[in-house]
Amino acid sequence: MHKTVRFMQSILKDFPRHHLIMATAVGCCLLALALYPVSNAEANRQVAEPIAIPAATQPPATPAEEVEPALKWTEQRVSSGDSLSTLFTRAELTAADVYEVSSSPDGKLLRNLYPGELFRFGLDRSGQLQELHHVQSKLVSRVFTLDGESYSSEQLVLKPDTLLNYREGVIKDSLYMSGLEANLPDKLIMELANIFAWDIDFVFDIRGGDSFSLLFEEHFLEGEKLSVGNIIAATFTNRGKTFQAVRYTNGQGATNYYTPEGLSMRKAFLRTPLDIFRISSGFNLKRKHPIHKKVKAHRGVDYAAPRGTPVYSAGDGKVIAAGYSKANGNFVFVQHGQTYITKYLHLNNKKVRKGQSVRQRQLIGTVGSTGYATGPHLHYEFLVNGVHRNPRTVKLPQANPIPKAELVAFQTATQPMLTQLAEYGGASTFATSGSAADMNAGAASAN
Ligand SMILES: [Zn+2]
Repeated sequence: MHKTVRFMQSILKDFPRHHLIMATAVGCCLLALALYPVSNAEANRQVAEPIAIPAATQPPATPAEEVEPALKWTEQRVSSGDSLSTLFTRAELTAADVYEVSSSPDGKLLRNLYPGELFRFGLDRSGQLQELHHVQSKLVSRVFTLDGESYSSEQLVLKPDTLLNYREGVIKDSLYMSGLEANLPDKLIMELANIFAWDIDFVFDIRGGDSFSLLFEEHFLEGEKLSVGNIIAATFTNRGKTFQAVRYTNGQGATNYYTPEGLSMRKAFLRTPLDIFRISSGFNLKRKHPIHKKVKAHRGVDYAAPRGTPVYSAGDGKVIAAGYSKANGNFVFVQHGQTYITKYLHLNNKKVRKGQSVRQRQLIGTVGSTGYATGPHLHYEFLVNGVHRNPRTVKLPQANPIPKAELVAFQTATQPMLTQLAEYGGASTFATSGSAADMNAGAASAN
């Protein structure tokens, strides 16, 4: 054991302390994974190397050509309009070869080919097709092998390595641009906003200086990054208030995001009942809102948005009115249980009928300017026991917290992720306040 520790220390002596803690925690067998390089040239103030998840993976299967060196290999890429015949012809094989493969027991699996797929042909010295690899993706292949008279086939599925990476950023011009500057793919920027969408109004309340950090999965195959996975833990600081979320799969197998205390991030009502990603100005801190000076008692909130932007039901409920009036234009009212009613005015189109049940985030209409409206916008009202409340600030009821009996399991599963997120955040803050050289040691090894 002492030997192992010394060995690790000798390897890790150039790394900052939190890296050592991390590597020790995941175990020396995963050390190589922990030091895996990741591209982060664009992002500053971020920790370079991802963290290995102990649940990783198997070694890639040995490619067939290494055990059968006698075969000569050629490749053909599937283009639009290709069939097995055109591919075999290009590989200088005959119609008889096509027949032998396609009439084999699994030959029907070669009927549907998709552009971009790859075929690898392994021929022996006599020109006989011994092996055919149908590479459907980087992870999935089917291998046809000449087995006496006929071809048999086997599916080959590679499992990618899943590693955790960290990013953080400060909002300058917009959430979207700041996310890109932090080297976050679009998918993760949207997922981040969706996780916090019940607590933070991303249309009105985002401010310069707001900040975020997140721990997320990346999938690798033989050192090549294939894709990004899920956000595992994240923070978002909005106007000085920090929200935290962690991903957890409960005893019933349902995956959701929760606060560290086990309250659901998902609430009974959406804070913003429209698609914020369709509101380009929603990310722009310099945007202007339409001002309805003529409306005396303004009892709702107005979301300026392009005509046609999807409008969602803020919660599960029942449509109690869907119609047209001179003032409201096209409108939809939804009742949620006994206590709540939400109202959506000036719609371009209604997508629901009176009496219909709706789910949270179900499309109920599109943004328009019907009725007394100066331009396309959604006028949204939120009523509690018949009294108008400010939709942007009203306290929303909780939905499905972690049950008490599962709280220990929840904390055991999620606490390490929150700790890692906090350590990375702390490490990078420390780095900018004077220990930059330390951080750069990690960053340099990653490039
Ligand atoms: Zn209004």
